[in-house]
This record gives sequence, C-alpha cells and structure tokens, in this order.
Amino acid sequence: MELVHCMECFKFVNSSGGPHKFGLTSCEHIFCATCLANEANRKECLVCKTKDFKIMEIGPKMPLELRELFTPMEDTLASSIQLIKEVAKFQAEHARIQIELHKKKAENYEKLKSYAKQEINKKNEYKKQLQSIRNQLKLAQNPSRVALFGAIDVSGSPTHRSRSTSRVSKGNDRHRSQAPQILNRIANLGDFSQLPIGLSTAFSTPNVNFHNPRM
Ligand SMILES: [Zn+2]
Ligand SMILES: [Zn+2]
Repeated sequence: MELVHCMECFKFVNSSGGPHKFGLTSCEHIFCATCLANEANRKECLVCKTKDFKIMEIGPKMPLELRELFTPMEDTLASSIQLIKEVAKFQAEHARIQIELHKKKAENYEKLKSYAKQEINKKNEYKKQLQSIRNQLKLAQNPSRVALFGAIDVSGSPTHRSRSTSRVSKGNDRHRSQAPQILNRIANLGDFSQLPIGLSTAFSTPNVNFHNPRM
C-alpha cells in the first residue's frame, strides 16, 4: 500500500503480509516493528507524543472496521461499485412496485368517479320523476285547481282548459280514475331514502374496492 507507511522510517505497509510487521497505535499512528523495538518509542508516540498508547498489529486479525482502512483502494472501489449496484437494483424494484400500486389506485379512482357520476344522474332523474308525480297529486287532490287548469294526464301535460261546469266535473272524474295509476308510479320508484347516491355507496359496491388496489 503506497500511502500507508511507518511514520518513523517510511517503510511501506504490505497489506497482503510481508516480512515486516507494523503496528497501529491507539493514537492512530503507524510504526514498523523495527522502530517499535526501541523501548523509548513504545513509551511515547514519535508523532503526537501521546504516552502509554496501545499497539495493535496490522494484519488479518484486526477487527473488520480497522482492516478496511488498510484495503487497497482498487479493491475498495470494486466492492463499493458492487454494493452501489445492489442498492440501486433493490431501490429500483421498490420504485417499480410503488408505481404499479399508484397506477392501480388511479384506475380504481376513475372507476369510482364514473360510478359516482352515474349515481348522481340517477338521483337527479328520480328527483324529477318524484316532483312530477307530486305536482300531479296536488292537482288531483285540489278540485278548485283542476277547475282552473282542467284535466291533466299522467304524463304531466295539461289538457285544454275547461270552460263549462259539466266539463270540469268530467275532468274531476278523470283525475279520480288516474289516482291509482299515480300511486303505482310512486311504488315503482322504490324507497327514495335508500337510493345509492354518492361515493359512500360506491365504496360498498362489491366490484370496486378503493382500499385494496390489488383486487
Ligand atoms: Zn519504521
Ligand atoms: Zn501518536
């Protein structure tokens, strides 16, 4: 290793092991065994003058985190590139899964939106029909208004205005006979309080589940 050497005699450390031994001090300085053989050099660090420092032999018996400091740069670079590749692959796979989930959610959202629109249209249609029936019932129950406006058929369009008493009476008879038909129409519309309107209903439909995009 060209950059790591004894700080006293400048002998280079050979990471793959060699005839010379080296020591790493607890004050993080490096000396060769020859320089450390001198007792005076072991009492006080030749670089920072720390006293009573500890020495660890540089070699395969060192803890991993210290051994990595003596790994040749090209080896460190190669293993770093490999690690970067693995990390990139792992994260890219997660990103892909996340995108898939978002796509699925967006699809479900579109389905729900279209379902909600249909339900709102249905509700508006029911409202119109109900209002039309209410109007007809009001007229049928109020003979004086019938007298003014004449007979009205079930479709909601008023007939010609009645001018004689006999025709008014005829008109009233006609409304009495239409009452059961109007009641039948109300019955056919079903229970309005139970109408499936809005998103809350969409969530409960068996074919659309917003919370589980994998359905
Ligand atoms: Zn030395
Ligand atoms: Zn030192």
